[in-house]
Amino acid sequence: MPHTIDLTTRRSSESTAAKDASGSAKTPLIGVLQADLAGKLADIDIPERQTRMRASQIWHWLYVRGVSDFGAMANISKDLRAKLDEVFTIDRPEITSEQVSGDGTRKWLMRFPSRGAGKPVEVETVYIPEEGRGTLCVSSQVGCTLTCSFCHTGTQKLVRNLGADEILAQLLVARDRLGDFPAADTPQGAIVPATGRKISNIVMMGMGEPLYNFDNVKDALLIAADGDGLSLSRRRITLSTSGVVPFIEKTGSEIGCMLAISLHAVNDELRDELVPINKKYPLAELLQACRDYPGANNARRITFEYVMLKGVNDSLADAKELVRLLKGIPAKINLIPFNPWPGSSYECSSWEQIEKFADFINDNGYASPIRTPRGRDILAACGQLKSESERLRKTDRLALEAMMIAGHGE
Ligand code: SAH
Ligand code: SF4
Repeated sequence: MPHTIDLTTRRSSESTAAKDASGSAKTPLIGVLQADLAGKLADIDIPERQTRMRASQIWHWLYVRGVSDFGAMANISKDLRAKLDEVFTIDRPEITSEQVSGDGTRKWLMRFPSRGAGKPVEVETVYIPEEGRGTLCVSSQVGCTLTCSFCHTGTQKLVRNLGADEILAQLLVARDRLGDFPAADTPQGAIVPATGRKISNIVMMGMGEPLYNFDNVKDALLIAADGDGLSLSRRRITLSTSGVVPFIEKTGSEIGCMLAISLHAVNDELRDELVPINKKYPLAELLQACRDYPGANNARRITFEYVMLKGVNDSLADAKELVRLLKGIPAKINLIPFNPWPGSSYECSSWEQIEKFADFINDNGYASPIRTPRGRDILAACGQLKSESERLRKTDRLALEAMMIAGHGE
């Protein structure tokens, strides 16, 4: 049975916003690149000869130990900790809900304070435990400027981009809640072993189009991959894009992570309808950018995501064309059963059709795993993430549950 965890007993310091009690904004230190940290410290008059050492100590506390309070930084003097606390914040966002699905999937709703004139925003992050690995699905924007016709996030206007700190905060909160950081009494200098972590993989597949927030996504992922800190392997970080062609090369050369493309259609006419950014960057350009993706090879394949929509893109002719289009690209194909939402005009392909499609692709030499829908009972599946401001009404939620039961017999 799914359940929601009561978070009301959390210490209030864990839920402080970026504004302190007096309402004055502090600068987030999370999300600042290691190379820029010493400069930030010099800005608050920490003597030049100390800044590098201090930066490396702080980095360790933030990303190896996972502390969210300057007071815990034991090898930094009390005075300096107080000074840091006056100017910077390392607070976690407030967790407004934590739900655990019957299949172990977890979904957090995090509230981030307002930026500029905007209101506070709520963001969803999903953790998917699997045999031998655990994947965190991270959001890059609140809402999305794009309007893919089968995607629930696409019905919500873009509210704003998330900062690098807010993208990273999703990983830090998830690690807090899953016990992935060392306990406070772990001896200093000890590091988290790379094996046995709950979160071994990150996918930028939550809300939003990551390549429309490139700079912040880049900084967050570089910090997540930093060997002196969170140390996630770049091969275990995947960025999914609907096809923002001008940023694909930069993703490979500047971030160096794995790439996933939301393909979903094999001709421009249909893709224009399903993934409207195709009108700007049509299939031929998109596939060329994939052919040129830095670092792609048979050991580091590009994932092509393909949502299975009944009677729309799921015929054997589509499968055949898919194989033809991807020729010469080191690719794997990920078939995603469509996750319905109230008001959507699509249905998921029958299981039989999905298997036929998958068999054809397999017979032609592609690994084509069918993505098992996870966390459906807590609305954590792909394309179902939406912010609290547009939460489903209860009647919609009941309708959705009925659709899923009728469609999949789960
Ligand atoms: N904006 C990025 C990443 C987020 S979406 C992108 O579009 O790639 C992650 C994946 O879920 C994408 O492939 C997206 O097309 C797919 N998706 C969206 N809505 C879906 C739905 N209702 N059912 C199944 N997959 C969906
Ligand atoms: Fe945005 Fe991705 Fe949804 Fe398209 S599929 S609307 S790009 S989140």
